[in-house]
Amino acid sequence: MPLDQVNLGFTAERPEIPVDLARTLLGVVRQRLGLDIAWLSSFHDGMQVIEVLDGAADALDVSPGQRSRLSESYCVRVIDGRLPAVIPDTAANQITAALPITSVANIGAYVGVPVLSQSGAMVGMVCVASQQAKPYLADDDLRVVKQVADLIGTLVDTPPRGADPTAEQRKAIRRVVCDHDFEVVFQALYDAETGRVVGVEALSRFPCEPFQPDAFFTQAALLGLDVELETAIVRRVLSLIPQLPADVFVSMNISPAAALAVPWSDLLAQIDPARLVLEITEHDAVPDYGALDEVLEPCRARGMRLAVDDVGAGFASFSHVLELAPEFVKIDQSIIRHIDVDDARRRLARAIAEFAGQIGAAVVAEGVETQGELDAVAAAGIPLAQGYHLGRPQPHGHGFAPGPTAVGAEPTPTTVDLLGERPFELALAHSPIGMAVVGLDGTFLRTNRALRSMLGYSRRTLAGMTFQEITHPDDLDKDLALVNDCLTGRRRSYRMDKRYIAADGHVVWCALTAVLVHATRDRPLCFVSQIVDVTADRLREAELARRAATDPLTAIANRSAGWGRLEDLDASGAGYGVLFCDIERFKSVNDRCGHHAGDHLLVEVAARLLAAVDDDDLVARWGGDEFLVITDTVDDAGLARLAERITAQLERAPITLPDGTDTRIALTIGYAAHRPGDGRGIDAVLDDADQAMYDQRRSASLPT
Ligand code: C2E
Ligand code: MG
Ligand code: MG
Repeated sequence: MPLDQVNLGFTAERPEIPVDLARTLLGVVRQRLGLDIAWLSSFHDGMQVIEVLDGAADALDVSPGQRSRLSESYCVRVIDGRLPAVIPDTAANQITAALPITSVANIGAYVGVPVLSQSGAMVGMVCVASQQAKPYLADDDLRVVKQVADLIGTLVDTPPRGADPTAEQRKAIRRVVCDHDFEVVFQALYDAETGRVVGVEALSRFPCEPFQPDAFFTQAALLGLDVELETAIVRRVLSLIPQLPADVFVSMNISPAAALAVPWSDLLAQIDPARLVLEITEHDAVPDYGALDEVLEPCRARGMRLAVDDVGAGFASFSHVLELAPEFVKIDQSIIRHIDVDDARRRLARAIAEFAGQIGAAVVAEGVETQGELDAVAAAGIPLAQGYHLGRPQPHGHGFAPGPTAVGAEPTPTTVDLLGERPFELALAHSPIGMAVVGLDGTFLRTNRALRSMLGYSRRTLAGMTFQEITHPDDLDKDLALVNDCLTGRRRSYRMDKRYIAADGHVVWCALTAVLVHATRDRPLCFVSQIVDVTADRLREAELARRAATDPLTAIANRSAGWGRLEDLDASGAGYGVLFCDIERFKSVNDRCGHHAGDHLLVEVAARLLAAVDDDDLVARWGGDEFLVITDTVDDAGLARLAERITAQLERAPITLPDGTDTRIALTIGYAAHRPGDGRGIDAVLDDADQAMYDQRRSASLPT
């Protein structure tokens, strides 16, 4: 390989940067750290290639152009968190001490930082190393290496992440899925106060690019292999559970799609489901919560628990959490990062913790990297923590040592006791969504400001009321039936659109999500409800529906609404009658007096038809000057009487046109009926009525 150019990246298009610049930067960083050698490697086809090197090449067995398997490298382990970026003494670290490359290349101390291209692809690594251990290496040294790696990354351009993998990559990913060639490592979850390990999270490690698990799953999904891969991982994790300490739970990540596909009842036959926690990330949209609930409910009934992962990282919302009703809420590491020095993050974490407490979920802080973050996490009332500061992901069998404990932490309330002790309003004061804690008898125990202003009640008024009292009577039975389903264990939560009666009496349409919270497994405690005002949507929908069914000139039903009524009546099997009503000499009014007068006439005829028919009858403008009356009267005598009433309405008084002249008009009316059991369809009935109208016109010898 010519060394005047550096090739980086594991995509087909391999970008280039000047070697001289890279070598200069490596020289700076090597001297700054006082180590023997620095190099820039690139990753492709599962191999690490040393592209540029600075320093005493003979000190370690590393040389330009040298290739080694990535799966056996430090790099991959730094990237996936098994190894820290700074290793002052490789002999003192269990993983590096056991890796063959440590003795083969003579590495005593190491610092490595991945190089990310402009589009975020991991394209290589800046590594600095020496033969001797260097106990003084610290965070400051890491910062310098990071700066150099960042600088090199800005010079590298690759297709964006998630872009099509190369043919080689596709082959490698297929092989991983087919051969189940992945490893599962475990990262402990700790009680922040005592440092005790309470659970472990299973994380997958892959032997080929892209090594980062989330990127690997994305690529597998592009090949349609994600569910197969995840199912194989579930099998592997479950098979490892018996080898893990009996007093810790085992948490594993799963996408909603895989959760629906995994044959849970078979797989859980051999283990106690109470040891398993499924983590469903906030990032993945759940298309159908009902379907997911149906699949997971039998496992949850046997003790399996759920966690919502990465809460606060993205768009996801309290409603995602409410829908899943998890036992754990994991706060994303982007919120935990620098939480000890960032007030906004601290407030957000506290709000999430409070919310989780309200729904009876235990909270886990993810990605705790420093003692300061651990202290802040505990002070924010978060009882559980996970992160490199406490323990890195490691293969099972390594044992999980107790972690450091938080200093000066408040006693951390765990779950539902928060309901009584912490004001609900505090956590949700700024939520734009209405929320309430409702007792099992329907009494409002807590309400937030958004809900109270939506319904116009004061806190005190609402506190003395039940939801039954402010539910529209037409929606109450359905709501109570769903509550009962929850209380009898048939469901854990429900959603419905319902109407509330506001303090001033007006109706507010809301989308309600209610989740039943348990104090203990068998003792329901209260409901947590999320209530979103959808009145505007409802009004808009109603207006659109009205417009779609209304004739714009006469404001009565249009032909489409008339057809709808006929189809409903036809489907009900009850029978119906129709009357075609045609305005005689309408054309001459139009010709003589203009269209404006014609329109006026149509509006007046529609009004008189409405005045003649019964409340349950429908008058539709069928087209032009033709109207259709649809009635539930089916006998000829009744239809004839209706036709007479219509005629009488028309004859009652002349119609005054806009120019002030009076005109008398007549309708020709033909009717027909569909009687139960006569087997006649809508078209046949309409044809008969049309024919009857034609006959009527002829027999009256009126000119057409
Ligand atoms: P996650 O479930 O949120 O896992 C936590 C991630 O944070 C892990 O990354 C873990 O190694 C990393 N981490 C833990 N502590 C720290 C810390 O203190 N600092 C930093 N910077 N990172 C920390 P990992 O293993 O790379 O996994 C990334 C994501 O890939 C996971 O995020 C999860 O969503 C997904 N994933 C990993 N393994 C699996 C799997 O077997 N199945 C599924 N469906 N997804 C998986
Ligand atoms: Mg997770
Ligand atoms: Mg997470």
